[in-house]
Formats: sequence, C-alpha cells, structure tokens
Amino acid sequence: MNICSFCGGDIKVIKDKPYHYDECGLDVTLCGVTQYECTECEETYVSLPNIQQLHRIIGAHICEKGKALLQPEEIRFLRKDLHMRAKQMARVLGTTPQALSRWENGRKPIGETHDRLFRAVYMMYASEPTAFMQWATQHNVTNISDGLGMLVGQAAESFNLWRGVRPSVAPVIQSIQASM
Ligand SMILES: [Zn+2]
Repeated sequence: MNICSFCGGDIKVIKDKPYHYDECGLDVTLCGVTQYECTECEETYVSLPNIQQLHRIIGAHICEKGKALLQPEEIRFLRKDLHMRAKQMARVLGTTPQALSRWENGRKPIGETHDRLFRAVYMMYASEPTAFMQWATQHNVTNISDGLGMLVGQAAESFNLWRGVRPSVAPVIQSIQASM
C-alpha cells in the first residue's frame, strides 16, 4: 500500500508502534504489526497478517485467565469468534438467548457454571470451527445430547483445574437436558 484510498496522498510506513486493536471489542494492544499513515489526511491503516490465528490466541488467553468471571465483551468476543449466533450459543450452553444477551450487555454476570462451560466450549471448538459449525447445523443445535456429556465433563475438568474441586457432572447434564 503506498497511496491513501481516501485522498490519494502518500502513505508512510510505521513500524514498532503499539496498535490498540479496538476492532475486536477488547482492551488488546498488539506489538510488531505494521501500520500506515497518510501524510496528507492522516488516515491510518493497519495490516494484520493472520486475524484468525490472532483471535485464537486472544480467545485462549481469555479462557485461561484465573478466577474472574468472563466479562461481557469477552463473552461476545468468544461467541463471535466461533461464528455462533446468540440463539445457537444459548442452546449449546443450555440457556436462553435472553440470559446470554444479559451476560453480553453486562446486565447480569454469567455465573460460574456457565462461565466454565462457555470456556470449555470455546477451547474445544475454536481449533476446528468448520467441523463445529457442520455439527451444529446437522443437529440444528436443538439436540446437543451427543456432545453434552463430553462438554460438561470438560467443563468439570476446567473447574477442577481452576478451583481444585471436581464437580459432579450428572446433575449438570440433567439440569441442562431439563431446560432444553
Ligand atoms: Zn489520505
């Protein structure tokens, strides 16, 4: 890129300047990305080489953080990174779109069980979003029984990892199935 697409002015290359990645909706600053600035109108551009991989790194970082519950903007980021609509994600998590909406807009905290389940779902499927979407489509995301035990088991593992307590999975599975 050497001409500004807005005014046609010359572009200068900026290296080694931290880039605040506002577009992702999170407080993330990237180092080592090349930025460009128009010398005429001062419009700025950025070149992000591998956005999918970048998002996976950000997502994994969010999921691996310690005790704090997922924040609204983090929940939204993780869901969008899986290319899930709110309705689909709510079904996978065994909750309602309204509840998910409240977590995403900050009107209500996510709660510990769904927090851990959400992270487990993300970590499990972020590595193969295509397969996950095919699976979700095949099941119309109305029936998650095939993967439910696995998901809840993974969430229990995560909970054990973070909290040192391994919850019983059967009541959780029953509770989720009852709400479907
Ligand atoms: Zn310009």
